[in-house]
Amino acid sequence: MKKEEIQHFIDCARRTAAAGLLSCSSGNLSLRCIGDKDSSGCAMLSATGSWLEELQEDQIALCRICDGEVLNGITPTMEAGFHLGIMRRRPEVGCVLHFQSPYATVVACMKDKPKDFNVTLEGPLYVGREVPTVPFLPPGSPELAAAVTEALAEHDIALMSNHGQVACGPDFRETFRRAVFFEMACRIIVLSRGNCTTIR
Ligand SMILES: [Zn+2]
Repeated sequence: MKKEEIQHFIDCARRTAAAGLLSCSSGNLSLRCIGDKDSSGCAMLSATGSWLEELQEDQIALCRICDGEVLNGITPTMEAGFHLGIMRRRPEVGCVLHFQSPYATVVACMKDKPKDFNVTLEGPLYVGREVPTVPFLPPGSPELAAAVTEALAEHDIALMSNHGQVACGPDFRETFRRAVFFEMACRIIVLSRGNCTTIR
């Protein structure tokens, strides 16, 4: 891992936390390494139990994407399975973000989930026309990793039932924007009690 990559990872973690998207240690982040020969085919992941708002250099796990092997002795987030699964499946994905942002998590717990999140123009622009829902499966399980990876094979964001949201993109900026605008759509839907119009 290059020094700049480590600093960028820490900046991204802090930025996510500063946006109010996290509940304590619930969020996790991964970035594909772009760098040197030591880290090609690898990704950096926030460590298990880490809080993104106060993430330190020694809480960044370096993992091989093809098999999940930990290369620096730091245990990654328990959700490493889907972070790496998505990157394995989609070579263009450079960032995965997962957290329990307040309103997306409310929607993730609804009995009847909304079908259409296109309440403002940012929906179709940044979130995508459809948002798949992953059923509730034990956190950290291979079943959850497989279901999330499958859901994101052709989408950039998914709701995880009774759990939260997960977003991916080519880099942090794009991924963060998707997650923030999805959270905004969920906020509008929740605060209007579903009584909102959508853009066709
Ligand atoms: Zn989780």
